Amino acid sequence: MKRILVIATGGTIACREGKEGLVPELTLEQLLNYVPQIRKHCELGAVQLMNLDSSNMQPCHWLEIAGRIAEEYEKYDGFVVLHGTDTMAYTAAALSYLLQEGPKPVVLTGAQKPIDQDISDARGNVIQSILYACDDRASDVNFVFNGEVIAGTRGRKIRTKSFNAFSSMDFPHKAVIRDNHVVHYIDRKNAGPLKVYDRLDEKIFALRLIPGLDAGILEELGKRYHGIILEGFGIGGFPSLEEMGFREGITRLLDQGVVVVATTQVPLEGSDLDVYEVGRLFKKDERLLEAYNMTLEAIATKLMWILPQTREWKEIHRLFYKEINFDIWR
Ligand code: ASP
Repeated sequence: MKRILVIATGGTIACREGKEGLVPELTLEQLLNYVPQIRKHCELGAVQLMNLDSSNMQPCHWLEIAGRIAEEYEKYDGFVVLHGTDTMAYTAAALSYLLQEGPKPVVLTGAQKPIDQDISDARGNVIQSILYACDDRASDVNFVFNGEVIAGTRGRKIRTKSFNAFSSMDFPHKAVIRDNHVVHYIDRKNAGPLKVYDRLDEKIFALRLIPGLDAGILEELGKRYHGIILEGFGIGGFPSLEEMGFREGITRLLDQGVVVVATTQVPLEGSDLDVYEVGRLFKKDERLLEAYNMTLEAIATKLMWILPQTREWKEIHRLFYKEINFDIWR
């Protein structure tokens, strides 16, 4: 029988109605009592690391989760992390960078409705996560949600209420779970061994451009952040007119050693800054990174992972463009 470690961190799945609204309160033991059938599939280990609404999740919590998985890696065959859905995409992407090449699956799941409610997606999500974590062909960091398996760097919460809360952005599902069977669409099993990273640089900022934005903000951001993600328009357009000051502002940031990534705010199909003049003019500076079809969650956490390792731009480029857990295609 497979050994699976369930790690609880909070989220709606563990929520009860409090004085000020839903608040994570159920302990892991109480949660697991709602899904007794999972003990048929595996030997369970259980650890409660925190009990947070995921809006309060910080990079230090990602490091704690990754550290615990690394510590327990030899004892278990797979890991299921119960997590709030709101920032699950950031945690899944961060874990994808902190825990690389391991042959054992790490699964994140949660629920849109608390497990103690009559109508809830929680029980199904936990059971399906355990099934996937027990599967011999599974590895890497994944979401299992509403019967779908999504690579850890590809998920995004796109619905606030429905059970199909997550989408796999610009990338196929890795698998689906039908009638308690895992149907694999993408088969790539890591050979291992697990590589563990234990540092993240939190000084990353994401700026969504709107028409009329004052480029002076770039100078202010450069004083506080090591990496800045600029979400431009369409396939890759940024305000390029000289008098708007964006090109000059970005050049100054790059000269100071700030890492700048250009991406698009359009959710699907990614960027290609070479198509229009309003992109290519920026791309002329070879120090500028382009995120192509990465999700914002993956870009932000990948920078957090890269920057403690190096501040040399060529090495940053090498690491940024290296595909990790299906994060970048270009
Ligand atoms: N606010 C909750 C959280 O992210 C939402 C959820 O879990 O669905 O912790």
